[in-house]
Amino acid sequence: MAALFISMSEANYIGRFAPSPSGPLHIGSLVAAVASYLDARSNNGRWLMRMEDLDPPRETRKAADQILTALEECNLHWDGEVLYQSQRYGAYQEAIDTLKKQELVFACDCTRQQIQEAGGVYSGTCRHRHLAAGETALRCKVATGLITFRDRIQGVQSQHLDKEVGDFVIKRKDGLYAYQLAVVVDDAFQDITHVVRGIDLMNSTPRQIYLQRLLGLNEPAYVHIPVIVNDQGQKLSKQHMASPIDTGSKEKISYLLFSSMDYLGLAPEPALIMESPGDILAWGIAHWSVDNLLNQSELHEKIQQ
Ligand code: GLU
Repeated sequence: MAALFISMSEANYIGRFAPSPSGPLHIGSLVAAVASYLDARSNNGRWLMRMEDLDPPRETRKAADQILTALEECNLHWDGEVLYQSQRYGAYQEAIDTLKKQELVFACDCTRQQIQEAGGVYSGTCRHRHLAAGETALRCKVATGLITFRDRIQGVQSQHLDKEVGDFVIKRKDGLYAYQLAVVVDDAFQDITHVVRGIDLMNSTPRQIYLQRLLGLNEPAYVHIPVIVNDQGQKLSKQHMASPIDTGSKEKISYLLFSSMDYLGLAPEPALIMESPGDILAWGIAHWSVDNLLNQSELHEKIQQ
């Protein structure tokens, strides 16, 4: 009978965690994993796993395996098979072909430095140069007008892609497919209805919504959560010396899950830290609410304590 009380949108919830395997799991990515897991499970949803291993020199199978093992050790069990972006090049190329048919793709040989020097927004330099594809990136033309979405925590967000971003890269000069394109193709392929991820990616969301519209794909609901930053204000990452989480014992795993919930602002009772990882996650599912999450500066203060 309980199922009768689950609304359609909850019953259809499909969330995901989509790490880039450039190193082992650190506390920053664990917090993002826990947030998307709790949001999915508290909505009776599915929680899928996607390895964003688009950049083979930087992202390795070894790091991907380490991340998956750490997540399993933390009782963060996903549904179904892991999707590897390194296996999805055909789908990304198809998306580019669809955009090409709409005459929205052009080759560009501008360097990052040139664009930075011109103010950071791509000004359309190569739009009409008709460069032959080769040692060039491919960019998608943006349209004028505002892209708006409602973030479940951050409220209504808007961006003028033409004024704030410019035509953006969908295939890199080195031949690799760009994150913005791959994430959109795969969120649709995995039927993702809810994206929960770090606030550092919020600036990318309008580009992704724009691509979803061009490709005729559904738009998921978005939540951007605060991210842990180091003393220099940089997001934790392998480049910024984030150490791998230590899953060496049940106590350490309980501590990691407890800390993740504390960082998210769920205010777990101190005694919860003594419980098993499974019980801590069950507590998190029961107490999850996006309305109570810390904002970026509150999280920063908590970490400084
Ligand atoms: N792979 C991205 C990262 O690890 C996350 C992508 C996403 O959640 O959209 O930062």
